[in-house]
Amino acid sequence: MKARLIPFTALASLLLVTGPAFGKARPAAERGNRPALSIGSPTNGRLEGGRELLGREGLKLKRPTAARWGLPQLVSLLERGARRVRIRHPRSVLLIGDLSRRGGGEIAAHSSHESGRDADVGFYFVDPRGTPVEITRFRAVDSQGRAVGERRLTFDVARNWTLIQAWLTDPQVRVQHIFVAAPLRQRLLRYARERGVSLPLLHRAALALKQPRDGLLHDDHYHVRIACPPRQRSVCVAEPIAKAGRPKGKTPRKREGKRREFDSGTEAQKKGLLARVR
Ligand SMILES: [Zn+2]
Repeated sequence: MKARLIPFTALASLLLVTGPAFGKARPAAERGNRPALSIGSPTNGRLEGGRELLGREGLKLKRPTAARWGLPQLVSLLERGARRVRIRHPRSVLLIGDLSRRGGGEIAAHSSHESGRDADVGFYFVDPRGTPVEITRFRAVDSQGRAVGERRLTFDVARNWTLIQAWLTDPQVRVQHIFVAAPLRQRLLRYARERGVSLPLLHRAALALKQPRDGLLHDDHYHVRIACPPRQRSVCVAEPIAKAGRPKGKTPRKREGKRREFDSGTEAQKKGLLARVR
């Protein structure tokens, strides 16, 4: 992963507030009623006062032990998105994977998910009769939209687009990006265009949806990241920063899993993606 430059003033204020190591989150009792904070970057950060995501109607956690804390803004975005899909498409259940650990910081099998702004989210599927099928694990999808190893399941573009639309038009939270494999991205954008979605929303989706250049393809789940809340820009770093920026002596512990998620995407790349969908 490439290091990204962040303005010196932002970095300086970040160090002043957090210390260079983005150490442990303070207990809630010490924090009083202060709002939850996303401190540092998604790849080198922590979370203070995060909210726990709980399973509910229309929303299920992939496994109970999953890291399930995030900024309240992220948690509420996931809840609202699942609810909007369920209103339009009854019986829909959204499967959620990892968010951040309580307090954030490093997390197994991910290079990000450290600052309470990231979540992994499963796709919606239908069977050959078009009936919604609830999944219990993330399922990879091929370029034809069929689940790998379970051919009777198809990526349900209608419900998946409803979710994407809900996220991108959320009245309270700004989504920074949504990682997803290129063929699925194209499928979603084509569907939106055919449905007559407004041009601004179509462009917004073209910018927000992207396949990472390296790491996971994201052909079995979305990775949604929300933007830094406006009032947290002195401590919250929007883009990933290199692990090499860690102070001496603090080495990442060994991670589980063969593959890890990586972040990528530049402004130029976004413009290229936009050009392709036009
Ligand atoms: Zn992820």
